[in-house]
Amino acid sequence: MNPRILLLPLVAALFAGCGKDPVTPPPEEKPQLPKKAAAKPRIEGENDKSTGDRYVTQRAANLNVLSISGGTSHDFSKWFNDNDSAGICFMAKAKVDYMESFQTLPDEILKHDVVYLSANQPLDSLSRVALMSFVDTGHGMVIIHPACWYNWLDWPEFNQRLVGGGTKSHDKYGDFVVTVENTEHAVTKDLPTSFRVTDELYHFEPDPQGTPINVLATAKNLKTGEKFPAIWVVKHPKAHIVCITLGHDGATHENPAFHTLLKNSILWAAAK
Ligand SMILES: [Zn+2]
Repeated sequence: MNPRILLLPLVAALFAGCGKDPVTPPPEEKPQLPKKAAAKPRIEGENDKSTGDRYVTQRAANLNVLSISGGTSHDFSKWFNDNDSAGICFMAKAKVDYMESFQTLPDEILKHDVVYLSANQPLDSLSRVALMSFVDTGHGMVIIHPACWYNWLDWPEFNQRLVGGGTKSHDKYGDFVVTVENTEHAVTKDLPTSFRVTDELYHFEPDPQGTPINVLATAKNLKTGEKFPAIWVVKHPKAHIVCITLGHDGATHENPAFHTLLKNSILWAAAK
């Protein structure tokens, strides 16, 4: 209510003692439609309920990471955002933006140095072009667990060019051993030479037609002794690309060896 209206009875009472007519209150003003709410500012660390996206920018950084995530069979928000975005922020001193919806991907990706890709959900054609252009212009990428699968059968270029192959099956969730085969590489620096994980052992197969890869670590089935690449870099002519098949859930994402691997991978991918 207009504050003037609250004062009017008081004013009227004052004037009543002076022999003057009381002031007649003006008619109520027409109620006005509420103004359209201004766009809500993006608040760091706050979840966007409409999209599931979250912005966890923390530190002033010269390294900007875009985490592209979401899909099926995994708790993307918990492990690839809450856990990994915070870890990347802290360990690599990077700014991380996280998205599970891709309307803004073609614009957003240009503001970042590295993509951390865990998505296994459908990707529209503009987003596909944007991802390929990003890599072709020398920007780095870390491709993690769900994204190392053959997710997009109508987009074979992704697996051939960016992963160097793909995965169509895995061992039942359980324990296995990861062995670092190349201890000299920056991605495996400071990792234990072998470490045990509880995860899905991906049966990754390199594609002979795809971009060649350099396997840095293997995963071994403890019963059969069968080994598969677990960590590798893709010999892309323009960009630094790291692929990691580990990371189904918290058993790996909370493993200190994985923290070191994540930090190393993001920093190496960022190098031109
Ligand atoms: Zn999984």
